[in-house]
Amino acid sequence: MAATAARKKHPKATPNSPRIGLYPGSFDPPTNGHLDIIRRATRVVNRLIVGVAINPGKDAMFTLEERIKIVEDEVRSINNGLAAKVEVRSLEGLLMHYARDVGAACIIRGLRAVTDFDYEFQMTGMNARIAPEIETVFLMASENHQFISSRLVKEVGILGGDISSFVSPRVARLLMKRIAERKAAKR
Ligand code: ADP
Repeated sequence: MAATAARKKHPKATPNSPRIGLYPGSFDPPTNGHLDIIRRATRVVNRLIVGVAINPGKDAMFTLEERIKIVEDEVRSINNGLAAKVEVRSLEGLLMHYARDVGAACIIRGLRAVTDFDYEFQMTGMNARIAPEIETVFLMASENHQFISSRLVKEVGILGGDISSFVSPRVARLLMKRIAERKAAKR
């Protein structure tokens, strides 16, 4: 019964249906590394859904709505052709259930250093058990983005460092503004 319902809800992709990829993350904030993965992922899939996690962790700088808007603006600023292929949505619940709901053929993940590997290896194994029909595709971080993480960008920004080579000028402005607001609120 449940299996029938699940099949009805998640129709099988036909050879003509677009290949949809799901790129999940916190994007708090999106960095040049994230945008590079988004750009490259659209060469692998016809349509990319960027799933912005509802719960980004306790050191979140931006709300869900803000993060969705920032990612949308970033994608649009790269070019309209890219924006036409990318949809930014909030991601709630179990990743693989969400992936099935949106009809994704694969999950896209970025790999930076070996430190990413261990976690990704475990997660991919678990996810493959949950939804074996959905592949996880890893894109290696580009050489100049390998050391960029949202967490470190926030840390550098909080300490007054220059973040301009890690995020776009728009994201840098928004992040520095938010950091200043937080500091002012603490006084
Ligand atoms: P972070 O790990 O920076 O906090 P997310 O949780 O939003 O960011 O990560 C979402 C996905 O993007 C993960 O697969 C992560 O490995 C990938 N990613 C993050 N930063 C980069 C980068 N600089 N280059 C390539 N992939 C990245």
